[in-house]
Amino acid sequence: DEMRGEASFDQRPRQVPGYLYSRVKPTPVRDPKLLAWSDELAAFLGLARPAERGPAVEALAGNLVTDTMKPFAARYGGHQFGNWAGQLGDGRAISLGEVTATDGRPWEIQLKGAGPTPYSRRADGRAVLRSSLREFLCSEAMHYLGVPTTRALSLVSTGDLVVRDMFYNGNPQAEPGAIVARVAPTFVRFGNFQMMASAAELDNLRDLANYVIRRYYPELGEPTGPEVYVRWFEEICRRTAVMLAHWMSVGFVHGVMNTDNMSILGLTIDYGPYGWLEPYDPDWTPNTTDFGGRRYAYGQQPNVGLWNLWQLARALAYLVPDPEMFRPGLDLYSATFEATRHDMMRRKLGLTSQDEAEDKALFEALHEALAESEVDMTLFFRHLSHAAPAVLQNPASAETAWQELLAAATYSTSPEEENKLLSWLGHYQRRLQQETAAPDAIRELMLSANPKYVLRNYLAQQAIEAAEAGDTSVLERLMTVLKTPFAEQPEHEELAAKRPDWAREKPGCATLSCSS
Ligand code: AMP
Ligand code: MG
Ligand code: MG
Repeated sequence: DEMRGEASFDQRPRQVPGYLYSRVKPTPVRDPKLLAWSDELAAFLGLARPAERGPAVEALAGNLVTDTMKPFAARYGGHQFGNWAGQLGDGRAISLGEVTATDGRPWEIQLKGAGPTPYSRRADGRAVLRSSLREFLCSEAMHYLGVPTTRALSLVSTGDLVVRDMFYNGNPQAEPGAIVARVAPTFVRFGNFQMMASAAELDNLRDLANYVIRRYYPELGEPTGPEVYVRWFEEICRRTAVMLAHWMSVGFVHGVMNTDNMSILGLTIDYGPYGWLEPYDPDWTPNTTDFGGRRYAYGQQPNVGLWNLWQLARALAYLVPDPEMFRPGLDLYSATFEATRHDMMRRKLGLTSQDEAEDKALFEALHEALAESEVDMTLFFRHLSHAAPAVLQNPASAETAWQELLAAATYSTSPEEENKLLSWLGHYQRRLQQETAAPDAIRELMLSANPKYVLRNYLAQQAIEAAEAGDTSVLERLMTVLKTPFAEQPEHEELAAKRPDWAREKPGCATLSCSS
C-alpha cells in the first residue's frame, strides 16, 4: 500500500505506465495436489505441513485467496542478453503478500505459474512440472550449500496440462502444470528500477528505492540524500559479488543472467535453464538459447554481474547529482569478488595461511589445467579433500594418491592433459607443505568447503521423469540428500557419482531451453 499500485484486477496483457505493480487474481487450477514441501523453511515461517489436498494446498495453487492476502504482480523491465527489452514484469509470478516468520520479519510468498497478469505478454502465465520441480529443488539445494538464494516452500501439481514447444521444433507437447510457492524477503530486481528510469517515472523510482532501503537496508539510515543511495548501491555491489563468488565456488551456472533476474538483495533468483558444471569448462552453459554467444557461460558470470550492476547504476543515476558517485560501488564489486573468491579457493584447497601472489598463481594454474582436460569439478575437489591431507602426512604416497584422484574425477584425459594436472598437483603439494595446520584440520576444512552432493543435471532430470509418472520418491530422496551436501551419506553414494555416459548429450541432462 505504500507503493503506487494499479488496482483494476484487469489481467489482459498491456503496458502499465505509472505503476509499480498491478493487483491481480490468480487463475484457479483444476486439481491442486501437494507434491513436495520444505519442512525446515515451513517451520521457520511458522507453517505446518498440509495434507495432500485441502485448503492450504488450494491457497498454494492460487485457488483460495483469503482476505489477508493482497495478490499483486510487479512491473519491471530488463536487459535480455544485453539488449534492453522494455516492460517485462511478473508474467507468471503472483505475490500473495507476506507472512511474519519466526525471526520476526516479513517474508514474501510468491506463486510461480499461477496464471496470467498484465505482464504476461503473449505467454500463458503457467509453468510446467519439469521447470517447477527444478526451481523447487535447486533453490533449497543452494540454501543448504550456503549460497544466498530465494527459497521454495511447496511444489503443487495443478491437474491441468500446459502446452510447450520444449525443443523449439514446431512440435508442441502438452505437459503437466505445476506451481512453486517461493519465498524471499522481497523479489524486487534490478529491472524494477530500470523500468522506472527508462519510463522517466522518477517519483516511482525514488519511492521504490526509499522503500527498499527502509525495509531491507535499515542500517543505512533514512534515505535523505544522495550519499545514502551511494552507500546502498555499494552494499548491493558487495552482496552481488559474494553471491557470484559462491556460484563460482560450487560450479553453478545460472543460465539467464538478464538484469530482470538480478535480485536487489543479492540473492540467487529465477531458476530456469540453470546447470551445474560436471566437466570443468569455463565456456559451458546449459542454456540452448545462449549457444551462439555463450554470454552467460560459467566463466563469464563474474563479468556479467559487473555489467548488470552498471545497468543498475545507470537507472539509479537519476537519484544522485553525478553518476560518477556510483563508480566506487563498481570497484567494490570487483575487489569483493576477487577477495571472496580467493578466500573460498583457499578453503577448497585447505590453505589456512595466506600468500596472495603465490596463491593467485596457484589458482590460475588450476583453472587452466582443469579447463584444458575433462575433469568433474565436484569430484575433483571432494577427492582432493581426502588426498591432500593424506599426501601431507605421507609424501611418499603422493604418486598413487594423485593417480587415484585423477581416475576418480576425470572423464577422458590425454597424457599431456594428465601431465599438466600432475604438475599442478606437485605445485600444490609444495604450497601445502608450508601449512602449519595439522592434516586432520586441513581435511575438515576442505570437506566443509567442497560439497559431495550437488544437483547434477541428470539427477534433476531423473526426479522429473519419475514425478511425471506419478512417483515423487526420487525427488524426496534428492531433497533429503541435498540438505547435508557436505556430509558423507554412504547409502546415497551413487548420487555423488560421475555423470553417466548416457546423460552426456541428453536434453534436460546436458541442455535446457528457456521454454518452461
Ligand atoms: P525469464 O526468462 O523466465 O526470467 O522470463 C522473462 C519474462 O517473461 C518475465 O517477465 C516472466 O514473467 C515472463 N514469462 C516467462 N514465461 C512466462 C509464461 N509462461 N507466461 C507469462 N510470462 C512468462
Ligand atoms: Mg525472470
Ligand atoms: Mg575442461
